[in-house]
Amino acid sequence: MKPLILVVEDEAPLVEMLRYNLEKAGHRTRVAQDGVAALEQIDLEQPDLIVLDWMLPRLSGIEVCRRLRADPFHQKLPIIMLTARGEEEDRVRGLEGGADDYIVKPFSPSELIARIRSVLRRSGAGLPDERLQYRDIIMDLATHKVKRGARAIHLGPTEFRLLHVLMKRPGRVLSRGQLLDLAWGRDKYLDERTVDVHVRRLRKALNNDGQIDVIRTVRGAGYALDAEKT
Ligand code: CA
Repeated sequence: MKPLILVVEDEAPLVEMLRYNLEKAGHRTRVAQDGVAALEQIDLEQPDLIVLDWMLPRLSGIEVCRRLRADPFHQKLPIIMLTARGEEEDRVRGLEGGADDYIVKPFSPSELIARIRSVLRRSGAGLPDERLQYRDIIMDLATHKVKRGARAIHLGPTEFRLLHVLMKRPGRVLSRGQLLDLAWGRDKYLDERTVDVHVRRLRKALNNDGQIDVIRTVRGAGYALDAEKT
């Protein structure tokens, strides 16, 4: 899968330029126009790298960076900070805040692409995650095989996608709407009860040996991959 880059920038022409060049270089992109929207988007769909502007409405780039570094789910998410200010002091603050690299505006698209490649290489992100594991469940994405312990689990394509979405975000509660967006695609209109039907099938396939249920139903909120039920 192509690396997913989240561009967090409030200047529309720059966003367009970045998007165009990133997609031309073989990346997928998402855009957030302020710091709060960036954190929401990251929770919904973890990118492989963030291009994060320093000056943003609602929450500054440096604050977004600090919050991500303090969050165990996103601690290692690669971040390249953008700034119009080239002062050494800001550079140091950016790197202390946890950014992996730093680029000063104005910059050329090819310079940014080169930096992105190098940060992705160093982080090992951007490589397809071929194998996901949660407790005794292993998902092999290259062969589309799922195992629980020694037992092979046979899933339909929808249950496979649903499990993939959950395995990428262990512990997180996802609403039925989010699950529909992520596992079925944003453009499909489906009843949210569809999610319940497929979660039931997925549970049945995963637990048919009487193993512990790893899917937690959160009343009024949705579902989470979480075996530690409280
Ligand atoms: Ca800005």
